[in-house]
Amino acid sequence: MTVLALDIGASKFAAGLVHDGTNVHAVRQIVVPPEAVWEACRDLLLEVAGDEPITAIGIGSAGPVDVRTGVTAPLNIPEWKSGFEIVAAVQKLFPTATISFAIDGACLALAEHHVGALRGIPNGLAMTVSSGIGGGIIADGRVVVGRTGNAGHIGHIVVPGWDTPCLCGGVGCVEAVASGMSSVRWATQQGWQGTTGKELSEAAHAGDEIALAALHRAGTALGQAIASAAALLDVDICVIGGGFAQSGEPLWKPMRAALDKHARLDFTRDLRVELSRISNGATLVGAGVLATGQATADAIG
Ligand SMILES: [Zn+2]
Repeated sequence: MTVLALDIGASKFAAGLVHDGTNVHAVRQIVVPPEAVWEACRDLLLEVAGDEPITAIGIGSAGPVDVRTGVTAPLNIPEWKSGFEIVAAVQKLFPTATISFAIDGACLALAEHHVGALRGIPNGLAMTVSSGIGGGIIADGRVVVGRTGNAGHIGHIVVPGWDTPCLCGGVGCVEAVASGMSSVRWATQQGWQGTTGKELSEAAHAGDEIALAALHRAGTALGQAIASAAALLDVDICVIGGGFAQSGEPLWKPMRAALDKHARLDFTRDLRVELSRISNGATLVGAGVLATGQATADAIG
């Protein structure tokens, strides 16, 4: 059985072959082009597949998605924003392969459940905090899919005290306050000179006051969102990956303070929040888990 895994990210596509369940190799990555997006994705898949007899394909995609129809509609890919039938397109390319499709957050949760911090943990929350904020839920040992496949969209939990407009059309979403991109935008408005979340994090560690304030703000909003999610889901662990999550104490200290303030119930007070040990490619690993049927294959079409 040769499994092909595809990660449709907001700005990059990655694909790889999966052997032995979760061992992803031959990974190739491309930057999403402004047009002819499917053609680029197709070429990537064919290149990675090579002469291998592909029997199963797992696709993890930035959201929103609709797993009922196999449509992806990532907010950051203009050509696909109103919906692209990714499952049908991939099936046409590999007519005999079995295709599984889920949102990237669900793949992240599956990866953490199989090889990361949620291994052996029946109830957990996996998050990514990078240019955007996403997540996935493991409840009673199974990944939560939801009605349309979009469960786990923690980036659009509303946090108190902010009315920042969000890309989704709403206001006050945690992603609009605490993502790397949102934090850079806020810091720039305060006069900080820089362009990336990584630079912002480095500036905070060097003592830059605006950068420290930006990370304090982001950490506080993240703690609020996690406290709300923990109250709703009753989880053992929240594991956080993604580039901006690597910002260390300037981000994590205010996050823990907000958790202390808001997560006061007996079942939320001891919530463990950890940095992910899966350095990168978590969505690909999760897509592989999905495709090999080790996940809740009955729940994801
Ligand atoms: Zn939103």
